[in-house]
Amino acid sequence: MGVDSFVSWLRDVAGSLHDNAAYLTELDSAIGDADHGANMDRGFQAVVGLLDETSFDSADELLKKAGMTLVSKVGGASGPLYGTFFLRFGTALAGVDLTPETIGKGLHAGVEGVLARGKAELGDKTMYDAWAPALDAYDAAVAGGSELGTALTAAAEAAAKGRDATIPLVARKGRASYLGERSAGHQDPGATSTTLILESAARTLP
Ligand code: ADP
Ligand code: MG
Repeated sequence: MGVDSFVSWLRDVAGSLHDNAAYLTELDSAIGDADHGANMDRGFQAVVGLLDETSFDSADELLKKAGMTLVSKVGGASGPLYGTFFLRFGTALAGVDLTPETIGKGLHAGVEGVLARGKAELGDKTMYDAWAPALDAYDAAVAGGSELGTALTAAAEAAAKGRDATIPLVARKGRASYLGERSAGHQDPGATSTTLILESAARTLP
């Protein structure tokens, strides 16, 4: 695998977030400010613009540039968080062969960046509630000898369960936390976009 797989991934993510923009915004209208779909769509349309005008010879350069684009184009909490995810993911892939193991290390580095910025813990009703089980499932699959596609599919399935498990939670981070108990009973928008990003990875990266 090489940089082309990552180009396909980012284009597929842009398509998926565009198709789901109204849905993500509806989720954010219940416990936030109704902009998550628009934020993600705007950010990834800018990433597509970057892909259209630049050709990249390495996955790390591509992911780092995509991360910087998200940081600069997306307001709100999610821009810096996803921007940091892709920046750190890319940084971790610099100069290494792309294998299920190194990609796993990259995913971990990306999520550590999300935590460094957002200080979320498991159960705070954020995107981390999708990332954490996804990383566990990915690691378990790779440790069991699975190939990249199987490991990413396991990660996406675990993310979807984590996303669904945010519904009863009371938010402790981000805008939804201002609602206190009233945030319970709604699915977290960021955990939903994280699941879409991982479902796209399972479709396009292997
Ligand atoms: P904003 O809340 O600024 O309007 P978005 O609506 O684009 O930004 O994104 C909201 C999502 O960001 C939430 O659903 C949640 O998953 C995620 N989020 C917010 N704060 C944090 C945080 N501190 N750590 C991790 N994720 C967070
Ligand atoms: Mg919002």
